[in-house]
Formats: sequence, C-alpha cells, structure tokens
Amino acid sequence: MAHTLPELPYAKNALEPVISQETLDYHYGKHHQKYVDTTNSLIENKPEEKLGLEELIQKAYKDHNGQKLFNQAAQVWNHTFYWHCMSPSGGGEPTGKVADAIVKSFGSFADFQAKWNAEAAALFGSGWTWLVKTDDGGVAIESHPNAGTPIAEGKTPLLTIDVWEHAYYIDYRNARPKYIEEFWKLVNWDFANKQLG
Ligand code: MN
Repeated sequence: MAHTLPELPYAKNALEPVISQETLDYHYGKHHQKYVDTTNSLIENKPEEKLGLEELIQKAYKDHNGQKLFNQAAQVWNHTFYWHCMSPSGGGEPTGKVADAIVKSFGSFADFQAKWNAEAAALFGSGWTWLVKTDDGGVAIESHPNAGTPIAEGKTPLLTIDVWEHAYYIDYRNARPKYIEEFWKLVNWDFANKQLG
C-alpha cells in the first residue's frame, strides 16, 4: 500500500508563536512529505508494499540491508507522532496516569523535565528524545540519533521531541535549548495519556 502524509491535527499557524507557520510549511509540508514519497519509492513493486507502516519499520530495522528504508519509514512515523505530541491547548504540568508514572520514575515533574531538557540538548547531530513506557509501570527517557524510534524494538512511546535542526532553525536558529524549553508550552499530555492506555 502507498503511504500518505496524514493531516496535521491543527492549522499550520496554530502553534505560533512557539512554532511558526513557516516551520510547519517546511517541516510538515516538505520534509515529512519527502519521507513519505521516498518510502513509497523504496517499496514500490516489492513485498514490503503490503506491510503497514509499523511492520515495515520493524522489518527494515531487523533486515541486514534495511537501513535506507528504515530511515525513511521511521521518519514518516516519528513525524506523525511528533505532531500529536503538541497542541495549541497543550502545556502545563502532566495529568492523569502519565503524571503518576513520571513521579514514580523521576521523583518529580521538575526532575524529569530537567533530565529531558539536558538529554535533548546534548543529543549530538540529529535525532529524537522520547518518553517510553517501562515494564514496571513507570516511564523512561530514551534518545536516538537520526531516525531512531522506540517502536523499532516494539516499545511504547508516549512523547517525543524532534531535535533535527529543521525542527527549530527557522524560529530559534542554533538555540536548540530554547526550542526545547518552549516545547513545554505545547506539550499534549492528553495524547501521552492515550498512548499509556
Ligand atoms: Mn523533523
């Protein structure tokens, strides 16, 4: 099946002033679209064409020669997930079960946030910082370079931030820590709670 660019869950100017319409024009309209198009071109007339996106990512992750396809397909999935991690009505302290899991694993929201900010800022080059569900009922932070995604190994992500330069360079230039700090004004705790189940 051909993969398609999913609709954004809000208008392209809805995240302003934290993330500008211009950033979304490029990040969603051009980068995300290109990952979709390249994924489709790599699987055209191949057995992989029949797989859903998550299965495709997991297969490419395991395949000896799957790196090129993995990078493109994982970027399709990661970006769709990332758009949902932000909301024009987001921000503030975590709520529900996610709030409890954060306190269980990190002691407090402030401690969690400090660790997340430091990891996301320190991730060398391009990549993603994730919050994932752990087997003990808690949560953990994982950072992955490039297209790295917890779903490759069947884990359950709850939240992510894209720290590729294309995510923040128009609005924040080289100030990645400022972008990470501003992200909290949009964070969608309802979405994170839905992932936790
Ligand atoms: Mn991106």
